[in-house]
Amino acid sequence: MKVTMGAFLVILTAVPCLAQKNDAASADLSPAQAPATEEYTVAGATQEQETTLREQIRLMHPKVLPARVVFVPHWKYLDDARIFQLHVPTGYSSVMFTHLPSRTVFVDNDRYLGKEWLGHWMAHELGHLESNSAKEEDAERVAHKLRAVLRSNYKKS
Ligand SMILES: [Zn+2]
Repeated sequence: MKVTMGAFLVILTAVPCLAQKNDAASADLSPAQAPATEEYTVAGATQEQETTLREQIRLMHPKVLPARVVFVPHWKYLDDARIFQLHVPTGYSSVMFTHLPSRTVFVDNDRYLGKEWLGHWMAHELGHLESNSAKEEDAERVAHKLRAVLRSNYKKS
């Protein structure tokens, strides 16, 4: 996928996630057009993390799936954020970010705190993908819904 780095919009927010949208490319790379049945790849996760992640995403049944979810050590997370021209301020407590044009979710694996943590923040990232928006309030609106679906499906199983 061709990505023009110069066109990237840098999003600065004070919530625990950074999402980024390439406005120039969003017209023809709209994540909203991706079918929800599409397979996605998981990299850098332990078997247990990947199993948990796939179960949670299946239970949340988001309208838009990520293309890939990448678990990376903290130093690499910061490096990737830099490569994608996301400015992570000193002391910033971001734990995941989503690169919308490629539908890639990055997870800071050094901040991984288990199953609930993963479901909570993944719902937020899926919110960015479903809303196709880098705005935190748009992501959280969808995330509230997905977290409720996840909770009720966990109870059933
Ligand atoms: Zn976010």
